[in-house]
Amino acid sequence: MTTVRDIANKLEAYAPLRYQESYDNSGLLVGDPSATVTGVLLSIDCTEEVLEEAKEKGCNMVVSHHPLIFRGLKQLTGRNYVQRCVAYAIKNDIALYACHTNLDKMPNGVSFRLAQKLGLKKIQPLATEEETVYKLVTFVPNSHTEAVADALFKAGAGTIGEYDECSYRSSGNGTFKANNGCQPYCGTIGERHTEPEDRLEVIVKACDKNKAIKALVNAHPYETPAFDLFESKIGYSPVGLGCIGELEAEEDETDFLIRVKKLLGLGCIRHTALKGEKVRKVALCGGAGHEFLGLAEAMGADMYLTSDIKYHEFFDAGTKTVLADVGHFESEQFTKEIFYDVIYEKNSNFVIHKSEINTNPIKYL
Ligand SMILES: [Zn+2]
Repeated sequence: MTTVRDIANKLEAYAPLRYQESYDNSGLLVGDPSATVTGVLLSIDCTEEVLEEAKEKGCNMVVSHHPLIFRGLKQLTGRNYVQRCVAYAIKNDIALYACHTNLDKMPNGVSFRLAQKLGLKKIQPLATEEETVYKLVTFVPNSHTEAVADALFKAGAGTIGEYDECSYRSSGNGTFKANNGCQPYCGTIGERHTEPEDRLEVIVKACDKNKAIKALVNAHPYETPAFDLFESKIGYSPVGLGCIGELEAEEDETDFLIRVKKLLGLGCIRHTALKGEKVRKVALCGGAGHEFLGLAEAMGADMYLTSDIKYHEFFDAGTKTVLADVGHFESEQFTKEIFYDVIYEKNSNFVIHKSEINTNPIKYL
């Protein structure tokens, strides 16, 4: 049987929770992780109507993009929709799960999916994040270098971008003197021993650090393996908010915006003055992403699509990039498809539905 935890694990393997923004509240918000899932309803927002739909459709888990509980929840008296939803979910045994900014940042996350829908190619993250990584260096008798490297790779070390099993090796001599009570792998107690060793270096992600050290110690033949761990920041990270890509063929600005309007089912697009030039490079950020306008401009975007732009923020657009507000809900609407792709499994014992309720609180006249 599939449990709430199983569904959460799938989503977290795709969009690890550690990537969520500090203000966010992604993860399991309500419910018993060990409960058996009968059905999952996918939504952008969790509202009372969505929960009623879940109940009607036999879904005891709602996966939404925006977390229902975002700030502190101090009362449960039904005074606002958040409190009423939480109470309803508990009463009806419906688990609530949110996958928000961690999904926004993933390659193939919210912004990437929108970019693909618009036909962009060569898609890259816009606000690339620095990731803390570690350089793990150990010294191994060269007869065991391969075995230790294998163990480290298996523990997740040695991955750089799309490349696995990355390492650096150099050869030299190590020395040690084993004291009384030691059980040295080689050499004699009380005498300095010189052993031909390899210096083996690998990159380890913060989340794999402890696993890698354990693997090193287990695979290393020495009683007390020597190793160093250096923290570093790497420039390359596949993770970041927003994205930028290129259209296969240049498009007229108005034609492009009309295409965006149709694709997203928008009532209108608010945008800065058109330049009278063709559109090729497009940057976008699903949801509110005004803060990345400067990056979009610096990366040569002809157009930057995002949402929640205020009057004065439109003035920030320079002469190179057209800034367009394409609606918060609208820019994130394909997130339900991502959830579906991640959770769906053949011959599963639970149903999956995309919510049919338009939870967008904004209407256009
Ligand atoms: Zn959003």
